[in-house]
Amino acid sequence: MTESEFEALKVGGTEVNYFMVCRRKLWLYTHRLDLERSSEQVSLGALLHETAYCRLPKRELLVDSLIKVDIMESSGKVVEVKYSQKMEEAARLQVIYYLYYLKRKGVSELVGELRFPRQRRREEVVLTEENEGKIETTLRKIKEVKDLLSPPKAEWGAICRRCAYSEFCWG
Ligand code: SF4
Repeated sequence: MTESEFEALKVGGTEVNYFMVCRRKLWLYTHRLDLERSSEQVSLGALLHETAYCRLPKRELLVDSLIKVDIMESSGKVVEVKYSQKMEEAARLQVIYYLYYLKRKGVSELVGELRFPRQRRREEVVLTEENEGKIETTLRKIKEVKDLLSPPKAEWGAICRRCAYSEFCWG
C-alpha cells in the first residue's frame, strides 16, 4: 500500500475491531453515534484495564492523535488487554494493526501481546507478511463500510446482547 493510500485509509484501532465484530457497529460508530461511553460492558472493560495493569510499568503512546498503544517497559511489547475472549479474532487484528501502523512509522520488529486477565491467558501476536496484507484489505473494506449512505442491516448475533448499540438496533 502506498503512503498516500495509507494516509487516506488509516483509522483508529476501535474501527478495526468493530469491522471484525459487526459492520453495522462500525458504521454507527464512525458516523458519530458513539454510545460506548455509556455501556456498562465497556466500562467494565475499562475498569479491568485500569485495575489489572495499573502497577505494571507501561508507556501509553498516542500516535498521530489516532491510535493509543500501550507498550510494556519490561518487554517492549505492544499490549492489548481484553475483558472477554469472545471477540478474540477482532482483538487479534487490532493488535496486528497497531504493529502494522508502528512499522509504517518506522518502528518495526515489535511484538504484540493479547492479555485476557479473567482467563489468566496471554497470546503473542506477530506481524507477518500475510497479516500485513490482511490489514491493508481490512482498511479498504472499512472505507467501503464508512462510505455507505445508511448503516448495514442489523443481523442478530450472540454479541448483540452485550453491544452498546443493542437498544438502538433491537429496542
Ligand atoms: S446490536 Fe448487534 S447488529 Fe447492532 S450494532 Fe451491535 S452487534 Fe451490530
